This record gives sequence, structure tokens and C-alpha cells, in this order.
Amino acid sequence: MKERVHKDIVIIGAGMAGLTAAMYAGRMNLDTLVLENGIIGGQIANATGIENYPGFISVSGGDLIATLQQQAENFGAVIDEFDSIVKVTLKSSPKIVETEEKIYEADVVIIASGMNRRKLPLPEEKKYAGRGVHYCELCDGHAYDGKIIAVMGGGNAAVDAANFLTKYAKKLYLIHRSQFRADEVSQKRLLANEKVTVMLQTEIKALHGANRLEEVEIFDKTTGETKTLAVDGIFVNIGVEPNTTLFKDELTLSASGRINAGEDCRVGIDGVFAAGDVREKEIRQLTTAASDGTTAALLAEKYIAKLRENI
Ligand SMILES: Cc1cc2nc3c(=O)[nH]c(=O)nc-3n(C[C@H](O)[C@H](O)[C@H](O)COP(=O)(O)OP(=O)(O)OC[C@H]3O[C@@H](n4cnc5c(N)ncnc54)[C@H](O)[C@@H]3O)c2cc1C
Repeated sequence: MKERVHKDIVIIGAGMAGLTAAMYAGRMNLDTLVLENGIIGGQIANATGIENYPGFISVSGGDLIATLQQQAENFGAVIDEFDSIVKVTLKSSPKIVETEEKIYEADVVIIASGMNRRKLPLPEEKKYAGRGVHYCELCDGHAYDGKIIAVMGGGNAAVDAANFLTKYAKKLYLIHRSQFRADEVSQKRLLANEKVTVMLQTEIKALHGANRLEEVEIFDKTTGETKTLAVDGIFVNIGVEPNTTLFKDELTLSASGRINAGEDCRVGIDGVFAAGDVREKEIRQLTTAASDGTTAALLAEKYIAKLRENI
């Protein structure tokens, strides 16, 4: 039989949102457990040179996360990266988070399980990741000021990314294997920009470059022609996978598979919050993940205080 353990708060995911929530919760003397099934730090764990996190000129993801982890642990939060969740029950009171080893009974659950960006499906992806292959235009676009940029994808996110990157690019290619799926207003804006060449029905077949990306090899499905394009960087925007499988039976998910919750991070079940990139929202950055983690933890404390008043 699995051991049953009570926790004030169980936080699912140790990315920026989850660790920020853990730091706040720990500092309010709440008995806080963070469960992590991948790498502590999530998406940002291996990023180099973050230049838009307030208070830092430039910081690596590893350093930023190590400091935040230390802050959370100093305030008593416990981070467990070895025990995986098998089931959650959110509508009961207490909520139940069952792992392979234990059954946690929690007053509050904060879901901060983030998302994964779909990777460029080529074996060279690993070689060039961060060296010409990028997934976040808001994060890395600035490094391509005056350079040649390609954007891969044809949905709204890709076309929005391409429109954003035109502020830096001296030349921008949008490359997509089929037709546009983006809304017409965004398409028109992109097509009206003279720096932009749109290549539909075009597949990216290979990446080339000595130490960093220098060329992409493309195949035009209409003409059957293969050619290479000189590019300094490619921003891959071919979809994301929110980490919400565990919650799909208990929560309403948005069309993109994220959790519907407002700026207060409340999901519509008392004592359950969604924070960070897993929440349906427009801007997904480190600062907004930290903001969500803060909001969720502070509102969780208020909820727990009320629960205790009513005992
Ligand atoms: C390469 C890259 C560079 C970026 N650079 C910047 C930048 O410079 N500036 C900026 O502001 N933003 C940047 N971003 C975006 C930023 O990283 C994200 O917005 C932010 O990290 C989201 O944090 P999060 O905690 O919400 O989610 P995540 O970072 O996705 O963390 C979620 C965590 O939950 C864990 N998890 C998932 N499912 C479970 C489960 N079932 N059980 C337990 N744990 C689970 C995951 O393993 C992960 O560790 C970048 C993103 C990428 C991919």
C-alpha cells in the first residue's frame, strides 16, 4: 500500500512558474512539494544568454534556475524529480496527487507543467539548436538584427513570429510545406513587407554549416526543384504540445490543449490553479511565468487560510 502524505500545496512542474510558486509558498510557511518529471527548469534549463529577464544583463537558464531553486529550497519547499505522477483528482477535497510511490493529499494543486515546442524534425537539429536554430522569436530574435532569417511554419504563430522578426531581418523567408493556415490579416501584413519572400509547398530537407547554421536545403514540391538558401538563423514554429494529458478528464482545455484559466490562474475548481505556459494566454515568457507563479501561490495561501478558518 502506498503511503498517504498531506501537503498544503503540491506544485506540478519545476519550471519558472512552478519554482516561483514554490518560493512564495515556502516563504509563507506552507508545506510545499514540487513534483518534476523532467529537468528542473523546464524549457529554459539549457538556454544560454537570456537578455530579457529583469535584473540581469545576460544570464544562462542554468544559473537563473539554480538560483531560483535555491531560493525555493531555502524557504522549505521540497522538489522531487524522481517520483512520477500517475493520476490526479482535482475536484475532491483534499485533492489527490498519486505518484508511483505515494498518495499526496493536498489542499491546493498548482499546475505548472508548461509545454514542449515541436522540434525541427531533422537529425541536424541537435547540432544547430541555439546556433542558428531557434524556437522563440521574442527570446532570440534580437540576435539576428540585420541578418537573414527563415521562419518555418504556416499557422498563426509562425506568421506572427515572421511579422515580428521583420523588425530585425534584412531578408526573411517564410517556408511552409503546404498552404497558409494563418488568418488573412496577418498573412497580408507579411506579404506586404518587401523584405519577405514566402515559400509555400516547400519542405526543409537539411541544414548545413560548419559551427553554426549557414544554409538550409529546400525542396519545392510544385517544381520538384532542390536548392540551398543562405540563412543566419531559422525560427521553427510548427506547433507546441502543452503538458496537459494528466488533466484532460478533469479540466476544460482550450483548442490548443492548454488549461483555461484567467489572469488569477483559477481554473474553476476551488484550490486548483494553472500557472505559466500551460495556461491559455497570449504572452508566454519567463516574466509571465514568474508572474503566474506568484499569483497562484498568493491566492493559494488565501484559499488555505479560509479552509483553516472553517475547520
Ligand atoms: C529555447 C528557449 C529559449 C527561451 N528563451 C527565453 C528568453 O530568453 N526569455 C524569456 O522570457 N522566455 C524564453 N523562453 C520561453 C520561456 O522559457 C517559457 O515561457 C517559460 O520557461 C515557461 O515556464 P513554465 O514554468 O510555465 O513552463 P516550462 O518551462 O515548460 O516548465 C514546465 C515543467 O513542468 C514539467 N512537467 C511537465 N509535465 C509534468 C508532469 N506530469 N509531472 C511533473 N512535471 C511535469 C516539465 O518537465 C517542466 O520542467 C524560451 C523558451 C525556449 C524553448
